[in-house]
Amino acid sequence: MNRYLLTPGPVPVSQSVASASAVQLVSHRGAAYRELFAGVLSKLAALLKSSGPTIVLPSSGTGALEALSANFSRPGVLAVSVSCGTFGDRFREIFARYGADMINVDVTPGTGVEPSAAAEAIRRSQASVLLLTMNETSTGVLNPIADIIAALPARKRPLVLVDGVSGVGVAPCFPEEQGIDGLAFASQKGLMTAPGLGFVWLSPRAWKAIDKENAASYYFDLKLHKKYMKADGPENPYTPPVSLIRSLDAALDEILAEPEWFALRARAARSLAAGIEALGFSMFVKDKKLRSPGVTAFSLPGANIGSVVDALRTMGVEPAGGVGEMKGKVMRVAHYNDVRWPEISLILGSLYAALGGRSLDPEFMQRAFAAWEA
Ligand code: PMP
Repeated sequence: MNRYLLTPGPVPVSQSVASASAVQLVSHRGAAYRELFAGVLSKLAALLKSSGPTIVLPSSGTGALEALSANFSRPGVLAVSVSCGTFGDRFREIFARYGADMINVDVTPGTGVEPSAAAEAIRRSQASVLLLTMNETSTGVLNPIADIIAALPARKRPLVLVDGVSGVGVAPCFPEEQGIDGLAFASQKGLMTAPGLGFVWLSPRAWKAIDKENAASYYFDLKLHKKYMKADGPENPYTPPVSLIRSLDAALDEILAEPEWFALRARAARSLAAGIEALGFSMFVKDKKLRSPGVTAFSLPGANIGSVVDALRTMGVEPAGGVGEMKGKVMRVAHYNDVRWPEISLILGSLYAALGGRSLDPEFMQRAFAAWEA
């Protein structure tokens, strides 16, 4: 039986992405690797619309957050963390581990970060670092990162470090344009590759801020990684996962070949939401503007959502339950990858079957299709 993976990472990978890694290895100190890596770096630069390098790390998303923390957090640094869920909480915990003093601002799960609230916390504290989450995977909220940054005081603006683990590749994330200083992301969600690669991008201001500092980690020393990024033949300080980098190269080709990529992701999310609501589920994120284009969280009023998750799993469909505070309260379906109408109809049809063939609105498919076509 086929199993349909709808988890918020990893996502199903395309045939070309899967087979790209199934080839003979090359030396990571040879010309063939340098050429491959240079190509990947320029595709990442195109995706982020950035001129600066992206550091590629053998790690998951948490490793990329750890890399930001090991380079920017230390005793004497004051950071504001605005969290709207489990992953915002995790970033602040990692950052605190490296010694920074933290001011934690909590936002009600299911809502997003208010630009004025983040700006006020910075104004009051004079903190030098602000931690944000682009896409809060535990609730399905896409935060308005550009608006939050635009609202910050211009004088003594903090370094803005963003967890983009489940946002990059799914929604436009152009750090130079948006004013992000440090961006962490990973391979297994919006970049549609197997798990195992973490990424860190830094603004010129952020590179300057760590110029005279020693990283608290040997492996995740970002300045050392940058030293290996020679324009005519970039390499990594330590042995890179060459096969994964081949897969990533193929996935970036797929994303960059579709000019409407981000619009398609938003369109799929809107269509799914229309069908999910018509079936009788309750969307966890009420404000449509804040709904993630990559992951949707919802509950079933008056019923245990876990039974829907279990029923789907017996059908060979693999969604995710809630995490952290959301455990037992919501289920989540991911659509970071190239989800279009066939996948939407599979998800909605399976949900309908999991409900025992009942739907609040018998025209749930038409509702979803109308939103897909809109
Ligand atoms: N941040 C966010 C927003 C995430 O969605 C995740 C993974 N769900 C992580 C961090 C952690 O990433 P990983 O599991 O790859 O370490």
